Amino acid sequence: MGTVHDYIGGKVLEDIAKALHVFGKTEGELAGTDIGRRMLDNIREFEPVVVSFDEAVDAVHRADRVAVGERVCRALHTDSVFTESVFIDELADAMVLEGLAGKCSAEEAERVLKKYPKHPLIISKVSEKHQEICCSHPPECVYWLAQKRGLGCLNKAAKS
Ligand code: SF4
Repeated sequence: MGTVHDYIGGKVLEDIAKALHVFGKTEGELAGTDIGRRMLDNIREFEPVVVSFDEAVDAVHRADRVAVGERVCRALHTDSVFTESVFIDELADAMVLEGLAGKCSAEEAERVLKKYPKHPLIISKVSEKHQEICCSHPPECVYWLAQKRGLGCLNKAAKS
């Protein structure tokens, strides 16, 4: 399970860097390989879900506190496309304290989510609760790269 502490302590970035390294050093399907199984286990701890704009907005409005900051993995490739993430509750508090995100209103967070229509929204579980909504950049996103290599990890939100 990824925790809030992992986000502010740098472990999440280290794990993303390791996964990107494996994707860069290997070719073809990773499903059924030892390394693929280990990667999938790690990724699934975040229970990533692809959500629509409306589903993301619902999550923002259900939150007690929200903050917005650069998407976490962009720290590894600062010249890549800029997109932002919305952080919720405890993760929002921690990211603001670390200077990695700015506190904002639900309406401001909604405007940020609207800014990147070409970037699929993914909500991830952090410390037992879905607390990060990323305007993902598929060419550098661990989840999308894993999917591409046969490691199915992205679910769609269940329709209510
Ligand atoms: S693009 Fe993917 S790997 Fe990067 S922060 Fe967003 S969800 Fe995480």
